[in-house]
Amino acid sequence: MITSKLPNVGTTIFTRMSALAVETGALNLSQGFPDFEGPQALRDAVGRHVNNGHNQYAPMTGLPALRQQVATKISRSYGVHVNADAEITITPGATQAIFCAIQAVIHPGDEVIVFDPCYDSYEPAVELAGGRCVHVQLGLDDFSIDWQKLTDALSPRTRMIILNSPHNPSGALITHAELDQLATLIADRDLYLVSDEVYEHLVFDGVPHASVLAHEALYQRAFVISSFGKTYHVTGWKTGYVVAPPALTAELRKVHQYVSFCGVTPLQYALADFMAMRPEHVEELPAFYQEKRDLFCDLLGESRFSFTRAAGTYFQLVDYSQIRPDLNDVDMAVWMTREHGVASIPVSVFYQNPPKGQRLVRLCFAKREETLRTAAEKLCVI
Ligand code: PMP
Ligand code: GLN
Repeated sequence: MITSKLPNVGTTIFTRMSALAVETGALNLSQGFPDFEGPQALRDAVGRHVNNGHNQYAPMTGLPALRQQVATKISRSYGVHVNADAEITITPGATQAIFCAIQAVIHPGDEVIVFDPCYDSYEPAVELAGGRCVHVQLGLDDFSIDWQKLTDALSPRTRMIILNSPHNPSGALITHAELDQLATLIADRDLYLVSDEVYEHLVFDGVPHASVLAHEALYQRAFVISSFGKTYHVTGWKTGYVVAPPALTAELRKVHQYVSFCGVTPLQYALADFMAMRPEHVEELPAFYQEKRDLFCDLLGESRFSFTRAAGTYFQLVDYSQIRPDLNDVDMAVWMTREHGVASIPVSVFYQNPPKGQRLVRLCFAKREETLRTAAEKLCVI
């Protein structure tokens, strides 16, 4: 008998829905990844570096040229200066970054506040560190922070709060005013933040992303995490980074150096080259993805789904109450995949206690126009 360290964990919904999409031949709008290629110059650069002998270990902290490019991007995007040597660490994916940040500071018995619906990798990482997640539900209509609930959830054992903006699965954004409010609330408390900002460059309607990097008080206690996978359309490269003040970075690196030691070398070279060559790539992303969101939402306007356009991320939530109120969202997602050829992600899986009567599934619009049109056609006849 194995005494599982994660007795409540099964196979993730992303694996299950992607497998069902393959099995049934459905369009896969479930797991979040583009069905188009990243920039040609970026892909060419990988080949070049593989052929030019950049195939051995990268430095533990990340390739200096890539850390420098991240610092430059941060300064361009948010107007703040971070030290590329002391504050930036490249990791094999944001998931690993989140895991290392949690292991670095969470001790047995510590509590970590997460907001539901909540990305699935946070809780297992907290549990493996011996901590416990305290779930605070976001507003049912707009997925904003309920300050009373958050205040009530704080305890002397609270050691960390995990933020995620732009938010997966809802697409909601935290505002700078909310970051101020959070800073006031936790001013006298000894706790850390993980700010999961992997969708930092996917924000729409001209609204800027409120990064913890640009919030001086919060940044002092934060691990800010992002993913090249989302920003450069290469989720399979599993390359991300953590930005944190020097003392926190030092603790994070103690863990990172024994989890993976370093990220993949030629990918880091290629990303550094591309970022130097096309720094405007990130500034073009909002318009690029907003066009996809709007095309998809315009087409879905003819359907019986109801929705509010996502403010950020590449996910669109849709409410199916008018279609199959008899089905819970997991059954709905399976039914839509099998009977109508479109795979989605049920939202209840992101909750400790799913709100009763919520009828939402998540659709990924990081897809070619043709895919979005075919998917919408299928969704409009349900
Ligand atoms: N956080 C959130 C909110 C995500 O949606 C993802 C993407 N799957 C990750 C973290 C992990 O990113 P990566 O693929 O770089 O590990
Ligand atoms: N973050 C991606 C999503 O939300 C999935 C990543 C994964 O498969 N673990 O769809």
